[in-house]
Amino acid sequence: MIEVRERMEEFKDALRKYTHLLKGGKIDLEKTIKIEELELKLIDDLISNKSVICESKRDLQSLIEALLDSGWIEEAMRRASHELNVEIDSSPREALEAFLTGNVEKPAGKVALLVVQSIARCLAESKLESGEIVEEVTPLCPVCGAESRTMVLEREGYYMVCPFCSYKWLVSRDKIRCPYCGNDNPISLGVFSDRARRLGLVVCQECGATWRLVIDKSIKAPRILLPVISLGAEAYRKFIHNDMVRKPGGQHTTDAIVEGGGEDAQG
Ligand SMILES: [Zn+2]
Ligand SMILES: [Zn+2]
Repeated sequence: MIEVRERMEEFKDALRKYTHLLKGGKIDLEKTIKIEELELKLIDDLISNKSVICESKRDLQSLIEALLDSGWIEEAMRRASHELNVEIDSSPREALEAFLTGNVEKPAGKVALLVVQSIARCLAESKLESGEIVEEVTPLCPVCGAESRTMVLEREGYYMVCPFCSYKWLVSRDKIRCPYCGNDNPISLGVFSDRARRLGLVVCQECGATWRLVIDKSIKAPRILLPVISLGAEAYRKFIHNDMVRKPGGQHTTDAIVEGGGEDAQG
């Protein structure tokens, strides 16, 4: 396990290096760094003290229950609320339940979100470290259930990366496949990107789904940042039109899509 300090340096380096790809999209750097530091400390604490319950075989639900029973979550919520200067008036267990039932508006919900995210990330990391990589055509994270709109091209193929727990799962090996409907026909999958082909926005003409693609393998960033970096591809959304999607009984409009089109390519 790499030290928190080292991981924070990598995180900050990647933020410095790649936020320009967001093209005007802004993130609160100070807050992002503070939250990441807190989450990494919690992950580190989980790994060093609770390695048994962080075993890769566990599912998130049972892991959360075990950590509630052991008192770890309560302690983590106190620590997080202290560091974020947020008061929790309810008990940590109540705050956690409020969060799990969809209440993230209250300050306590935000603290719970941060703690649950740390647990999910810890579980995702232990699964990936033990080589447990799911191969499945789905946009839903097999570890935490969050929907991902971020695909990353790696040596082995096309992975989705979860924006919540940063788990990655393999969708296809040698060509892009739509994680929503499984379509892998290159003629009906349009990729909009800049000339440098770093980030792309993919549209599936079969089902109408769109998602972002990190094409450039030289982009090296902690996995949790890839969904953030990929947001830069939203700049190409204006090139996607409704008539590109094949409707039942409608005209096939594959000509409308130009591989490698997009802002810079046209400008
Ligand atoms: Zn996840
Ligand atoms: Zn599709």
